[in-house]
Amino acid sequence: MTGHNFKKKFGQNFLTDKNLLNAIVRDAGVTMEDEVLEIGAGAGALTTSLSAYAKKVVSYEIDKELEGTLKALNLTNVEFVFGDALKEKLEKIEGHFEGEYKLVANLPYYITTPLIFKFLEESEKIISMTIMVQKEVAERIVSPKGGKDYGILSVMIAFYGQARIMREVNRNMFYPVPNVDSAIVRIDIEKDKYYGIDKNKFSRMIKAAFAMRRKTLSNNLSQVYDKKTLQEKLDESTLKKRAEQLDINEFVEIYNQLR
Ligand code: SAM
Repeated sequence: MTGHNFKKKFGQNFLTDKNLLNAIVRDAGVTMEDEVLEIGAGAGALTTSLSAYAKKVVSYEIDKELEGTLKALNLTNVEFVFGDALKEKLEKIEGHFEGEYKLVANLPYYITTPLIFKFLEESEKIISMTIMVQKEVAERIVSPKGGKDYGILSVMIAFYGQARIMREVNRNMFYPVPNVDSAIVRIDIEKDKYYGIDKNKFSRMIKAAFAMRRKTLSNNLSQVYDKKTLQEKLDESTLKKRAEQLDINEFVEIYNQLR
């Protein structure tokens, strides 16, 4: 790794602390039976810990310059793929695995949200995601209704599963040191949690509900439903609420009433 030219545009902030790396693997609940997907191998620090605990690891890295360093690690149960994990077709990513798999990653922050949703929306085989994200993003992910961080991200993640913060990670644990602190979030995916709901339509409703935070549902939802339908199907007290006062189950109920 000597002389590596760290690339900010790829979100290259690497970890080296073995205790922390092993703790992340434990947070993910990885065992010898597990197949694991890592996104952003970097110099292979997390990959090395994962490789010691998992059956198999497939690790994506966009920066070709790291190929020599990664191959030199000689990790026999690890397959490195050099390319953009966000652009890669899910089918192709999942083609590396026999069955279900866990995602574990110290994510490049610039792709956190699209990457989370790529897997939540498209994958039938992912069991969980244990990911290092910016602390503020972690707080938005796990926020309960009414909290200042509660919003579209919290609701949509709760739609697909259950999220919790496993640990906070100080910025000084990374090299180079980034200008934000981080946290490890684990999202356990619950397949068919809300079976039969069209996720695209539901997501459209949630986006509309939070479009203007200070406005009522009646106001915000009129972007996607006509006023008459809203008045016929929802009761007065619901229409007067603001999105931040409703949890995932309440949103699902509203969606079903409007169907
Ligand atoms: N896993 C390493 C560690 O913990 O030290 C590196 C983590 S670093 C925060 C993120 C890594 O993701 C970088 O090595 C970066 O080059 C890589 N990366 C960035 N965008 C990517 C993408 N779209 N697909 C695959 N890898 C990407």
